[in-house]
Amino acid sequence: MARKFFIGGNWKCNGTLEEVKKIVSMLNEAEIPSENVVEVFVSPPFVFLPLVESLLRPDFQVAAQNCWVRKGGAFTGEISAEMLVNLGIPCVILGHSERRSLLNESDEFVGDKVAYALSVGLKVIACIGETLQQRESGSTMAVVAAQTKAIAEKVSNWANVVLAYEPVWAIGTGKVATPGQAQEVHLELRKWLHDSVGAEVAATTRIIYGGSVNGANCRELAAQPDIDGFLVGGASLKPEFADIIRSLT
Ligand code: PGA
Repeated sequence: MARKFFIGGNWKCNGTLEEVKKIVSMLNEAEIPSENVVEVFVSPPFVFLPLVESLLRPDFQVAAQNCWVRKGGAFTGEISAEMLVNLGIPCVILGHSERRSLLNESDEFVGDKVAYALSVGLKVIACIGETLQQRESGSTMAVVAAQTKAIAEKVSNWANVVLAYEPVWAIGTGKVATPGQAQEVHLELRKWLHDSVGAEVAATTRIIYGGSVNGANCRELAAQPDIDGFLVGGASLKPEFADIIRSLT
């Protein structure tokens, strides 16, 4: 089964009401390939989710940037996976490196979150990636394999999981991984999935790349055989996000 290209815009903690409406109108007017060729989602901050869900074109999905690790209750400040389902939000990004580093989310905690979000019916974009120091010390594969293993230990059905490989040194830095560097890790990850989870999961799971993707570098990255889409930060707030959505065509 071919892996359909999957492109997401991670708006992070950005935007006013006015700016959000502007980005949505820009996206609603964008000319992009059909849903059969590319699946697109945008991930606004929680407070804008219902608005974006109601204004955004129906061929785009909306994703949250996080959710709580188990059923809601006495967890002040958190948003539960059930609440997202209740609002009709189909996807959630989990394990983003900013949360791993700034909020100390461990591999195990991210694994638990992924499993819980899947159990209530959400699709999960699970982020993994090494720091510059880890890359320079030669431990890139060990790091991303450990992060993926912590997810694989808790998850039995991978149908609703998309893996986002985002080298930390490339996020928000303008320093994109070369197509060769990204392809190498994606291929290794697919081999890891093959050996540790199974051939079918390895062949069908989308592995998307994130880290300084923009309108100028997206085509060369998209041409790599094991890159199945992108998670885009900074450029997803700009009109060039439409160019990135068209990167395959
Ligand atoms: P960036 O962010 O495209 O601004 O590097 C990517 C991400 O954090 O998902």
